[in-house]
Amino acid sequence: MSSAAKKPPETEPTLDPDDWSDFRVTSHRMLDDMLDYLEHLRERPVWQPIPQAVRDQFHSALPESPQTLSEIHHQFMQTILPYTVGNAHPGFMGWVHGGGTPVGMLADMLASGINTNLGGRDQIPIAVERQILEWVRELFGFPDTASGLFVTGTSMANLISVWVARTAALGPEVREQGMAAAEKTPLTAYASTGAHGSIAQALDLVGLGTASLRKVPVNDRFEMDLAQLEDMIAKDIESGFRPFMVIGTAGTVDVGAIDDLEGLSSICQSKALWFHVDGAFGALGRLSSEIAPCLKGIERADSIAFDFHKWGQVPYDAGFILIRDDALHRQTFASPAAYLHRETRGVAAGSYWPCDYGPDLSRGFRALKTWFTFKAYGTEQLGSVIAHTCRLAHYLGSCIENLPELELLAPVSLNIVCFRYRSADANKANRYIVTELHESGLAVPSTTIIRDMLAIRVAIVNHRTRQSDIDQLLQAVLRIGAGLEKA
Ligand SMILES: *Cc1c(COP(=O)(O)O)cnc(C)c1O
Repeated sequence: MSSAAKKPPETEPTLDPDDWSDFRVTSHRMLDDMLDYLEHLRERPVWQPIPQAVRDQFHSALPESPQTLSEIHHQFMQTILPYTVGNAHPGFMGWVHGGGTPVGMLADMLASGINTNLGGRDQIPIAVERQILEWVRELFGFPDTASGLFVTGTSMANLISVWVARTAALGPEVREQGMAAAEKTPLTAYASTGAHGSIAQALDLVGLGTASLRKVPVNDRFEMDLAQLEDMIAKDIESGFRPFMVIGTAGTVDVGAIDDLEGLSSICQSKALWFHVDGAFGALGRLSSEIAPCLKGIERADSIAFDFHKWGQVPYDAGFILIRDDALHRQTFASPAAYLHRETRGVAAGSYWPCDYGPDLSRGFRALKTWFTFKAYGTEQLGSVIAHTCRLAHYLGSCIENLPELELLAPVSLNIVCFRYRSADANKANRYIVTELHESGLAVPSTTIIRDMLAIRVAIVNHRTRQSDIDQLLQAVLRIGAGLEKA
């Protein structure tokens, strides 16, 4: 540096507080406000329509000068907090959303506080992620050699499984050659018609195309028809295709059906096909001794995708992919790069790193909120919450069967109930009922189509949901439906 090196400016910029004790006062109030919110959640509407004036506040110009933290927090309390989807609320029963817990929230705050990057390097946070992997192996009866990784959600976990299965079928050369490696014998995969949309999307994203996914019909319990699966595989082989993967679903998104995982595993074993299980919410049923028997055969999968943020109640987002073959998993993703060089000592030690197992390099500390959740509640409490949501679904199912105004549209197998209000124009009436329910703030179910019929779909995932919430939903459906008939 020259002798004319510049003097540092009088005050060097920093983003830490000027006055820590003042900051503490505000931060304690923020925490208190959030705990008040969680404690009194039940007194609020599940969801409420968003006033235009609130939407308008989110079109301001790029802020140039600073605002106080308490001003910003005030805006959060007034304009953000009241207008979420509502999945933390006990009356939320739409789609498949977990409720989250105060413990998970605090752990997430600690994770942000240390702000460590879980891409790799020698640090205990990675040991925490590996600890979760050990628990997951134990839970699913996988060997100590299986690998695993936190990802955003099951959509990404399904995608990773398809990538690894593609490596298993075509060898690691596919990474260099792309799909030219399979030009002569195009690969085909199989999943039931009830499989989640992220499966077809995964086949699209890895370059196989959505047409490579064969949709296998389901039986009257909405489970994959295994005889038809074998038939379709045989026909594809005859026509010059190369079947490489079968995706079983443990808890379909529409009705909660679980494919015959043992049967699927046997078919895959005999034909040397990759057996993946999409267990987005259902796989964690293993935590409950009541539900676990329904998942028999999951322990024989080559890979399992699931979410801690659904039935596991870990705050968003916390998806996980478990892969039986660690080496194959790494061969699919690990890449040499000078700036990612590994050492045996110092911060750059600790290889293999999480970035060797997926497409992300920088990664947050999702493992911490999961670790806190498992330690704070134990598998006993988490499992009993899961069993309870299923019991509530069965309770709702039996109420529906006893009410002449209502009609059950699919058998209740886990925690999902699909039904409708009987009406001359049932699709229109039931769509109206669901929208009215949403705007009432009393309950939030969603809709789906079951055999061309629009269904009110209730998925009970939240640990806060009680029988009284189910009763309230039923009464509201009957009231809105009766009003429609009179109109
Ligand atoms: C929720 C769900 C997914 C997608 O999971 P995300 O965490 O939302 O990405 C995939 N499959 C099934 C069966 C699901 O229920």
